[in-house]
Amino acid sequence: LERWDKEYVWHPFTQMKAYRREKPLIIERGEGSYLYDIEGNKYLDGYSSLWVNVHGHNHAELNAALREQAGKIAHSTLLGAANVPSILLAKKLVEITPQSLTKVFYSDSGSTSVEIALKMAYQYWQLKDPVRFSGKKNKFISLREAYHGDTIGSVSVGGMETFHHIFRPLLFERLETPAPYTYRLTENNDEEACKALCLDALEALLKERHEEVAGLIIEPLVQGAAGMITAPDGFLRGVRELCTRYEVLLIADEVAVGFGRTGTLFACEQEGVEPDFLCVAKGLTAGYLPLAATLTSEEIFNAFLGEPEELRTFFHGHTYTGNQLACAVALKNLELIEQTGLIASLEKKINFLAQKLAPFRTLPHVGDVRQRGMMVGIEIVQDKASKKPFPIHMQVEHHIILHARRNGAIIRPLGPVIVLMPILSMSLEELDRLTDITYKAIETVTAQTY
Ligand code: PMP
Repeated sequence: LERWDKEYVWHPFTQMKAYRREKPLIIERGEGSYLYDIEGNKYLDGYSSLWVNVHGHNHAELNAALREQAGKIAHSTLLGAANVPSILLAKKLVEITPQSLTKVFYSDSGSTSVEIALKMAYQYWQLKDPVRFSGKKNKFISLREAYHGDTIGSVSVGGMETFHHIFRPLLFERLETPAPYTYRLTENNDEEACKALCLDALEALLKERHEEVAGLIIEPLVQGAAGMITAPDGFLRGVRELCTRYEVLLIADEVAVGFGRTGTLFACEQEGVEPDFLCVAKGLTAGYLPLAATLTSEEIFNAFLGEPEELRTFFHGHTYTGNQLACAVALKNLELIEQTGLIASLEKKINFLAQKLAPFRTLPHVGDVRQRGMMVGIEIVQDKASKKPFPIHMQVEHHIILHARRNGAIIRPLGPVIVLMPILSMSLEELDRLTDITYKAIETVTAQTY
């Protein structure tokens, strides 16, 4: 298997030359909070299998929901027809998301849920007032270092130059506004100063260019892939107010932060924010199947009604859109979240994590520790004064991850940031072990390096 993996599989986001030098980790099965490789080694899943898993692996009730649906039908198309689980799921999503969101458009990955929101936002303005907005409102604002997916549309609103430059010209023109990266933008982690600076910069941009801008896309509360950048309280609300004032649609990308990760079911809830679009994926099926949804308001949907009808179709539809198996398992996931009181159970875990993370700050090569709910970023630096990351060629973060793996936990870095994104159903004992293994890995590897 190892040989065939190296011979046949092209891994995403992976330097394949380097990958081939190392022993691959081949996962064979999962059970609760653990993953098992083909040699029977057991690992705590400290990254929720790329931020998707909610109730644990190989979950009896999720498995049963899947089996039950498979016994009826696995898939039929949503183009020109409907199916039972997708109707029930849409109704449920509308009930649990912010009030103004009343329509659900399905797709199959976080990237496409974003791409759909961008296309809808763009088309909305053209339909709303074709004369006033002709040739206008065709750009999007996003935050510095933003990550919203890999399709050419979603990557064009991303702020990570590494993913971009190869593919220029991209699909949509992007305008950039600063991310509220308090650790980097202020001297003493001054959240209020950071918030003011970022909102002022956004307002200046909107004042000047709002007529060109269709929408602003943001990850509410935490910019995940950007390195777990946690926003100061009130930042999201400030962004909402500015978008409303300057007639720019707000797209909330909750692909990573949705379904409990930040401590509430959706991150927008924490600031009482109603976005014009809400993109969800990852945790929607609790880590079982690819499924995504873009929710939007009556106002946006209504622009796609009316005359002439042929101009008001929304041209997007994947073959597996609204897949029955995926919708059935998503429904069961949402039912379990309610039945198990998952969200209420998080407070204790979040506080426990905070307590366990405090000593990380005393490590000489830990510059910043950021936590929002069950999302954690530990930023590794050469020294606290310069805040400089280690040179990439030293692969410090990679060695930290390998050390943790040898001790029984799988975690992943994002650049210089070590990320913990535990499965939400993890017990306090498992969280205890996960943080201990991570602490030891950082302490040992950085001491060896420096
Ligand atoms: N948006 C955000 C915030 C994400 O974190 C991701 C994936 N990490 C995506 C979009 C893209 O989702 P997918 O990988 O399912 O296409």
